[in-house]
Amino acid sequence: MNLRPHHLLCIQKYTGHGYDENFTNHMDNTVDSLAEGCSVTLIEGCDDLCIACPNNIDGNCNSLDKVKQMDEAVLGACGLSYGMSSEWSKLANLARGKIFETSEFDKICYYCEWFELCNNTPII
Ligand code: SF4
Ligand code: SF4
Repeated sequence: MNLRPHHLLCIQKYTGHGYDENFTNHMDNTVDSLAEGCSVTLIEGCDDLCIACPNNIDGNCNSLDKVKQMDEAVLGACGLSYGMSSEWSKLANLARGKIFETSEFDKICYYCEWFELCNNTPII
């Protein structure tokens, strides 16, 4: 599966909320696939989650600058690069240790519209 880096965070904080029904249905399927064990490649730009998002306009996120910043911050905090591939569980654990369990979470996610919800959502 191709994922943009900040989606390593969003997927772990997902509680069924999203932009519309199509997006949340797709998110549900994605979370199920990852839970079954899945290799993930980190990509720049729209990914396998973005394909069902109403904010994806002709292959570009309409919050391009904000999400690009978050992607790069996640790469930096985790010591990852675009193009790297690994098991979902390893990447999820890395993001947990380097971001959710540190002050990086506030720094990276504070300006996201979902921050309050995610900040109150424990990682399972
Ligand atoms: S606050 Fe936004 S970017 Fe951060 S995990 Fe939640 S939805 Fe993703
Ligand atoms: S298109 Fe933008 S808002 Fe939608 S899932 Fe992708 S990064 Fe998030």
